[in-house]
Amino acid sequence: MNNHKKNSDKVERRGLMFVLSSPSGAGKTSLAKAIMANDNEISMSISMTTRKPRPGEINGKDYHFVDMASFDEALKAGTLLEWAEVFGNHYGTPKAPVDEELKQGRDVLFDIDWQGTQQLREKAGADVVRVFILPPSVKALEDRLKTRGTDDEEVVRARMKQAINQISHWAEYDYVVVNETIDESLKELTHILMAERLKRERRIGLSTMVRDLTSEM
Ligand code: 5GP
Repeated sequence: MNNHKKNSDKVERRGLMFVLSSPSGAGKTSLAKAIMANDNEISMSISMTTRKPRPGEINGKDYHFVDMASFDEALKAGTLLEWAEVFGNHYGTPKAPVDEELKQGRDVLFDIDWQGTQQLREKAGADVVRVFILPPSVKALEDRLKTRGTDDEEVVRARMKQAINQISHWAEYDYVVVNETIDESLKELTHILMAERLKRERRIGLSTMVRDLTSEM
């Protein structure tokens, strides 16, 4: 990350929206946390949800936990960038914090499903970088869902079914990471971020820099 920071610090750039999607149990939440711990140019988007908190989840940190009436209110007021129904609960991305980060040239990390990803892409085009995380095998997915132990068995079964639906959208993404190990996947995600940050069209300071450079020649 340090090398990259040097590069990006030199030239002003547009912030990008880095989206991770996967079936539950593919390790996406751990990867999102690892990115956040390793990279100080990106902020996590905290979604609003009508789902009840799982043990250990903190309101305002993992999610903004709200009731259906408050969610509807936010939706009607147009304060959500995207939203979707997943497993019978509503999830949505509050728009204002995302706008604020992007305005400052910082990146935003999203842990959202394929429905939300499609909406973001429609709204923000090439500012959105989409990564799909695949589990290495069905067994790995099953094991991760079971050891998580935070949902009852019926929910686990339903999530396995949903996984097939989620995975069917893999080809709508720009990158696919097969999550064999967190370390290896984190490395791959870091490289994707680095390359995307260096794309010419995001680096809005380049033309000034080149002008200054050539005028000195
Ligand atoms: P979980 O309930 O396990 O935290 O999340 C269930 C699913 O909802 C995951 O696939 C997650 O990516 C997705 N999700 C979480 N927040 C949002 C959001 O704000 N918008 C959308 N579209 N999906 C979300």
